[in-house]
Amino acid sequence: MAAATLVVSLVMSGLTFWAVNTIQEDARLHDTRFGSDLGLLLAANAAPLVAEEDLSSLARFSHRFFRSTASVRYLIYADEQGNIFFGIPYSQAEVQNSLTIERRIKLPDNYSPDSDLPFIRQHLTPNGEVTDVFVPLFHESKYLGVLAVGINPNPTAIVSSSLTRDVTLAVFISIWVMVILGNVFNALMITKPIKELLVGVKNIAAKNFKQRIDLPLRGELGELIAGFNDMAERLEKYEEQNIEELTAEKAKLETLVSTIADGAVLIDTDMRVMLINPTARRMFGWEGKDIIGENVLHYLPTELTIKLTKPLYQIVANKIQIKPQDEELKSDDNENFTHTEDSFTVGDEFRLTLNQPTRRTVRILLTQVLEQYHNSVKGIAMTVQDITREVELNEAKSQFISNVSHELRTPLFNIKSFIETLFEYGEDLTEVQQKEFLETANHETDRLTRLVNDVLDLSRLDSSRTYNFCRVDLTQVIEQTLRTYQLNAKDKGIKIGQEIEANLPTVWGHYDLLLQVLTNLVGNGLKFTLSGGQVTIRAYKVESDSQLTEPIPSVRVEVADTGIGIEPEDQEAIFERFFRVENRVHTLEGTGLGLSIVKNIIDKHNSQIYLHSEVGVGTTFWFDLQVYQE
Ligand code: ADP
Repeated sequence: MAAATLVVSLVMSGLTFWAVNTIQEDARLHDTRFGSDLGLLLAANAAPLVAEEDLSSLARFSHRFFRSTASVRYLIYADEQGNIFFGIPYSQAEVQNSLTIERRIKLPDNYSPDSDLPFIRQHLTPNGEVTDVFVPLFHESKYLGVLAVGINPNPTAIVSSSLTRDVTLAVFISIWVMVILGNVFNALMITKPIKELLVGVKNIAAKNFKQRIDLPLRGELGELIAGFNDMAERLEKYEEQNIEELTAEKAKLETLVSTIADGAVLIDTDMRVMLINPTARRMFGWEGKDIIGENVLHYLPTELTIKLTKPLYQIVANKIQIKPQDEELKSDDNENFTHTEDSFTVGDEFRLTLNQPTRRTVRILLTQVLEQYHNSVKGIAMTVQDITREVELNEAKSQFISNVSHELRTPLFNIKSFIETLFEYGEDLTEVQQKEFLETANHETDRLTRLVNDVLDLSRLDSSRTYNFCRVDLTQVIEQTLRTYQLNAKDKGIKIGQEIEANLPTVWGHYDLLLQVLTNLVGNGLKFTLSGGQVTIRAYKVESDSQLTEPIPSVRVEVADTGIGIEPEDQEAIFERFFRVENRVHTLEGTGLGLSIVKNIIDKHNSQIYLHSEVGVGTTFWFDLQVYQE
């Protein structure tokens, strides 16, 4: 714009100066002609007076002429030698002495006195331009000297050219003033908002949706700014809404991940930990450690690091091929990856036993986290399942099945062999022998029945069957138990008795189940007490400790014997299924299920069974039952 203005102003100035010049040229031409005519006229009138040397007439004539016109600035007469002898408006003294006047009459070099045409030139004086006209004075073809006339320039031309020049200058200055003002206006009203808009757009592009433009503008620019602010506000709201939704989703997922029973660890492709849930922290002993952003391989238990390093890198390199389901089923539990020629096929499941922080068996699942379009791996999700209990239950199940089958097989085998012997060789046997064989078979049948009953009892107790609990009078249960074993105790020479507190309150429980508990405990007492010993059932009121509520009024039941006692290392194990100390010492018979059944029933009564035993002194089992309340 400035360049255009410069060009326009220069062109206009050029044109104006050309016009002024033309005017001045015209004026000069006009002045020249006028001077020439005037000079010739004056010379024609003055020449006779100069020839007659009538200086006073010449002076009069010249003064009259000088006064009659404003166009003449001076009149100077010189003789043939060029000496000035008269001048207007100068005094005679001035005429003779002034160098200025001398200079003024000094004829130019190319002036020819022979020419009867005037010689004209222009020159600048402090009082403006003047046209000097030199006219030779001839009288009767005799050269008398020269008349110099100074002609003032045409005032109209001067005025018009100076006006033109002034106007041009004013136009020139006003154009530039306007250009400058325009630029300032531009800078304030257009450039600044546009720059701010540019910054705003860049900020929006950089996701800074808080960007606003605060400029009090109207018109189209104002509308543009208002539109921009509106857009930024919508984007900000949209982002806030998105963030809220994302945060809510994230919170939901995090809650889900943190509450699941399995451990979850999310790793990025550089093996850095991105997320860990509390279960995984607990399993790997990472509580209190800040390992987010750290390399997972530096923190995993050593056994896991050894096993997982290669598969993890394979998954990241996207070379992993998850095994087909059936192949996975066939695969070894402990070794789930096998090497092939260029890469190895790796299953996504690993199972191993960790010793730290506690001994447990875990199953680890590695899953690729793929990016949106499933083209590349973004990370790995590691799920850790604690299968310790599962493994233990499996082992217990296997153990139970093998124990039951073993326990069943032994009496069955015995029964079969005795009956076979009787069947095949019965006639060869004495009656006493036959009776003995039958008694043994009967005895084994009892054992088998006991075993089957115990197994059935246990499985019934294990099932989710519900029992109706009600008011139970323990005195009756105790008396019934004692009645059952009265004869047995007598046979063995063991004293069997009861110590029941007077006014024993009734309890909340299940009569048959409690009878079974006492039967098992007293049975064991009799079994493991030698002749002359004693088995006692005690029942008395206590205030049971409960950490949650007030002490609960309860009845404590004790079954104490003076038997062989139990070694401290066996005291916990005796409540396990099929555990029998005699399995090691092979003395008294039993199924090894009695105490498991007792424990199970006491559990159902929301209580616990305890024991105190000393080898060679005796054993006491006890438990508390809640007093029945309406
Ligand atoms: P069993 O049918 O073999 O008696 P239990 O589960 O009742 O099975 O008992 C498990 C083991 O606990 C028994 O084999 C025995 O070694 C030990 N035991 C139980 N009660 C007593 C007791 N009163 N005195 C000594 N040992 C006992």
